[in-house]
Amino acid sequence: MPDRATVEQIKNEIGRVHLMAVSKTRSLEEIMQAYEMGIRIFGENHVQEIVAKFSDGKPDDMEVHMIGHLQSNKVSKVVSLVDMIESVDSYSLLVKINNACEKIGKVMPVLLELNTSGEESKSGFDTEEELTDCLRKSSGLKNIVVKGLMTVGPVACPEDRKDELTRVAFRKLKILYDKCGLSVLSMGMSGDYAIAVEEGSTQVRIGTKIFGERVYD
Ligand SMILES: *Cc1c(COP(=O)(O)O)cnc(C)c1O
Repeated sequence: MPDRATVEQIKNEIGRVHLMAVSKTRSLEEIMQAYEMGIRIFGENHVQEIVAKFSDGKPDDMEVHMIGHLQSNKVSKVVSLVDMIESVDSYSLLVKINNACEKIGKVMPVLLELNTSGEESKSGFDTEEELTDCLRKSSGLKNIVVKGLMTVGPVACPEDRKDELTRVAFRKLKILYDKCGLSVLSMGMSGDYAIAVEEGSTQVRIGTKIFGERVYD
C-alpha cells in the first residue's frame, strides 16, 4: 500500500516538479490508493501489465506512461492504453508508434530516452547524435509529438561515486534538453530524485519509495 506521509514528503521536496508513481508489479487497488492521495501520473514498464490493469478504462485525469523498453511487436497493443511513451530508443520504433496511432486517430506524446551512463544493460539511444537525428526526423511523423527526454541514472557503479556519476549523467541530459528546446525532462527515481531535481528534472519517476520494495515472481 502506498504511504501517504511519504507521498506528502516527496511532494514537498520536489516542489513544482511532476510526480509519477511507478506502479509496475503493483495492483490496481494500490494504484487507486495512490490516486486518492493525489497522484495523477503512473508509470508501467510491461505491455502485458498495462493491458491487464487498464483495458477496462481509468479515471479521465489519470495518465499512464510507458517507461520500459517497448518491443515493436507490442506497439499496436499499447498505444490506445497509454498517454505517453517515455522510452523511445530508435527511429524505427517511433515510426511504428506513429503508424499504430494513425490507425486509431491518436497523436502520441513521446520522450526520447538516452543511455546517459553508457551501461550496456540499459536501454535508450547510445549517443546524443542518434537521439538528435531521430528528433529531427520525427517532425515528419504526424501522429507523434516529441515532448522531451528521459534517462535512468547509473545503476551498476561504485557506491562511493554514485552521487557524483548520477549528477554527471543528469547534467548531460539537461544540457541536451535545453539545446533541443523541449518541455519534459524525465529523470530521477527513488534513490536519486533529489539530485535530479537539483539538475533540472521536470518529472521524477518514483516506485519503491512510495509503494515499498517490489517483489517479482
Ligand atoms: C522501476 C523504474 C523506476 C522506479 O524505480 P524506483 O527505484 O523503484 O523508484 C523509474 N524509472 C524506470 C524507467 C523504471 O523502470
